[in-house]
Amino acid sequence: MIVSMSELATAEEIERVVERIEELNYKAHVNRHERRTVIGVAGASGESRDADELRRTPGVESVLRASQPFTLASREVRRERTVVDVRGVRVGGARAVVIAGPCSVESRAQLFETARAVKRAGASMLRGGAYKPRTSPYDFQGLGLEALRLLKEASEETGLPVVTEVMATEDVEAVAGHADVLQVGARNMQNFSLLKVLARTPRPVLLKRGPSATIKEWLLAAEYLLAGGNPDVILCERGIKTFETEMRNTLDLAAVARVKELSHLPVLVDPSHGTGRRSLVPAASRAAVAVGADGLIIEVHPDPDRALSDGPQSLTLEGFSALMSDLRAMQRDTSYVEHEREEVGELP
Ligand code: PEP
Ligand code: MN
Repeated sequence: MIVSMSELATAEEIERVVERIEELNYKAHVNRHERRTVIGVAGASGESRDADELRRTPGVESVLRASQPFTLASREVRRERTVVDVRGVRVGGARAVVIAGPCSVESRAQLFETARAVKRAGASMLRGGAYKPRTSPYDFQGLGLEALRLLKEASEETGLPVVTEVMATEDVEAVAGHADVLQVGARNMQNFSLLKVLARTPRPVLLKRGPSATIKEWLLAAEYLLAGGNPDVILCERGIKTFETEMRNTLDLAAVARVKELSHLPVLVDPSHGTGRRSLVPAASRAAVAVGADGLIIEVHPDPDRALSDGPQSLTLEGFSALMSDLRAMQRDTSYVEHEREEVGELP
């Protein structure tokens, strides 16, 4: 349920309401808006006796039933957009952020060459898989801890924060010790044990949409992280399964716009997995920025034909640099697209 305090409510009244919510065994998520305070009470119905009691409490203006099951992720509770600060990179702010790097970390030389090139081209974060969720058990599974160490070193050299996937609860500590953002891969979006552990981990989480997940299921997965205590959630649309076979997945760009209506959380787009084809990545990237995505996560490899994973969808270093120029030009040409954003900014 959603408890809206009156504009005239005093700090003591707000405090008393929060205390009462907690006495009733719920968790209060307080959002102080410019004029009034709104308290999200996850998991509580707006039609219970508890709701009636809160309605009569001094300072409370209304107690409403949340219209969506994902109370904390919804804009009903929090109207301001969430900005996730990753070592100074603001995800969900005025600038579209670009995260780039290889699908998998394969070697020191491959990672460092890519990291330096994407940094030069203007990327704001580095990606690279250490633990890889591969469809076949015979495919390259990632370098694990060795890759985490290399990512940390590359981050220290370039200054780029690192995003990498964590697949299992037992790896969370090691991954959190080496990376700035923990990615939950599409196949793990509904791994609720993993989400519960990440909810208690002091690192932002990049939550990919499951290949067959509805928007509601995706936002409920985000709700696990928020309800468990982690406010730093970044969503990522990476394509869903449809009947279409020309592309690896069907990139659902309308979902990005819809999620931004429903939720305050930032939304990125992954045009690499979303299309599966290098030739389509630039067009899908431009479309994602135009539809209002808060940024992109793009696979880049110095020699895609020899990549150990996802070569066909990886941009070359030159291809990535050309895409960054296109995106910069596009943001200048289409500043009208920016009107709905709170502030106007440019790609780096
Ligand atoms: C990846 O980012 O390399 C990856 C495996 O992504 P997804 O979980 O979206 O398939
Ligand atoms: Mn990949």
